[in-house]
Amino acid sequence: MDSDLNKLLIDYFPTPNTENKDLFKLLNQTSKIICEWFSLSEELSPIPQKKNNLIYEPNKYGCEIKTLLDDIHSLIYSSFNPSHPGSLAHLDPPPLTISIVGDLIAGALNNNLLAEELSPSISRLEDDLCKWFAMKIGFEDSSGGIAASGGTLNNLNALVCARFKAGLTCDPDASFIVSEEAHVSFKKCAKILGIKDENLITIETDIYGKMNISKLNKKIEESNLLGKKIFCIVATLGTTIRGSIDPIFEIGNICKNNNIWFHIDGSIGGIFAISNNVINKISNLSIANSITINPQKLLGITKTSSLLLVDDINHLRKTFYTGLPYIDSSEEVLNRGELGVQGSRPAEIIKLWLGLKFLGEEGINDILKSSIMKKILFENILDKNKFNIYSGSLHIISFEPKNMNFEQINNWSLVTKKFLLENKIMISRPLFKNRYVLRIVFGNFNTKKSHIIKLANLINNKINE
Ligand SMILES: *Cc1c(COP(=O)(O)O)cnc(C)c1O
Repeated sequence: MDSDLNKLLIDYFPTPNTENKDLFKLLNQTSKIICEWFSLSEELSPIPQKKNNLIYEPNKYGCEIKTLLDDIHSLIYSSFNPSHPGSLAHLDPPPLTISIVGDLIAGALNNNLLAEELSPSISRLEDDLCKWFAMKIGFEDSSGGIAASGGTLNNLNALVCARFKAGLTCDPDASFIVSEEAHVSFKKCAKILGIKDENLITIETDIYGKMNISKLNKKIEESNLLGKKIFCIVATLGTTIRGSIDPIFEIGNICKNNNIWFHIDGSIGGIFAISNNVINKISNLSIANSITINPQKLLGITKTSSLLLVDDINHLRKTFYTGLPYIDSSEEVLNRGELGVQGSRPAEIIKLWLGLKFLGEEGINDILKSSIMKKILFENILDKNKFNIYSGSLHIISFEPKNMNFEQINNWSLVTKKFLLENKIMISRPLFKNRYVLRIVFGNFNTKKSHIIKLANLINNKINE
């Protein structure tokens, strides 16, 4: 690093009436470190080889910029490396290029999505973009949405809203329904909402991982007899372990007939709704009252990027209304801090807005389609005589060896995961119905056909050892 850096004199804050030349240099230097790391990402490993020796506490006096840049370097090189083509373990793709810029801009603006006066243009951008997503879903003019820091929070926003609408906010019999393969965030939501364990009702899935409709009907009857008051049924559009899609239309109709809020957890699969013809199974979403979509997952908008879309924005408005006593604004102004559980919020919408414009419809299709094609390629090579395969229509696949008991499966998956990591391929080992299986998420655009063929062959050969 050049010795010039020692002389950088960074102001505490960007300053008016100067050129902020040193800030400019600092940004350039940081960009250089980051871009070099991206260039080296395949040489490195998905998981860092070495730990850093970063000192966490500040000294009496602030350190030199050169020291900070060295620290930034160490931090980066000791971090998880999502851009490596072998990073296939989780729903954490490489960062979409332009969204890195979006994060930088959001940092520079430091606007607050709490209130219109603290983020005039960005509040409008969020409103407009949520509306655009809502229209893609098929919602009507009354619809809208809110961004939150992740799918867990948006699922929570939806459940708070559903319970409020049902008039059950303080009712101990308030209950909601998910499938047994729904995301673990619903357990957390139930705790936050003060829902009793027995009132988080889970429905068994069929062999494809979809909520079993006759069991759902039966459970609703049983629950009613027990005096439970169901305020929401959640369908998962893309389960975390195998990317299955619950029967949206059937569940939606059951909700309509029983006057129950219908929430879709589309954290993984909802993004396919904004694209044409990648998966034809994604339709009828407008039957829902709310849907969570996480562009941070497959599109690679940098974390966090998650939206909750609702069929009628007034539901969120009524649920979270408090008035903002510290903000002076007129009645007509909708302060977006009153549409969800978060107060101050970063301008995350900028990177989503830039990301979508940067990709265009074709780019979005390209990313979504390639993820599905990769999954299919892998599934076709994996030896079906040797493995049980669990995979819905999305880009996620789980598998386990046939003819083994659970203990043997647990061991095999552990050894195989380690073996693959030695080959710079990182996959995951989730708990699935009481045993640990292996899972691959084909959401990494840097993973090429050759990587997938190699991976499938390594696994096929491993089972023959
Ligand atoms: C990831 C995920 C969530 C939670 O989203 P976070 O952004 O991690 O809070 C919810 N549901 C499903 C199906 C998910 O895969």
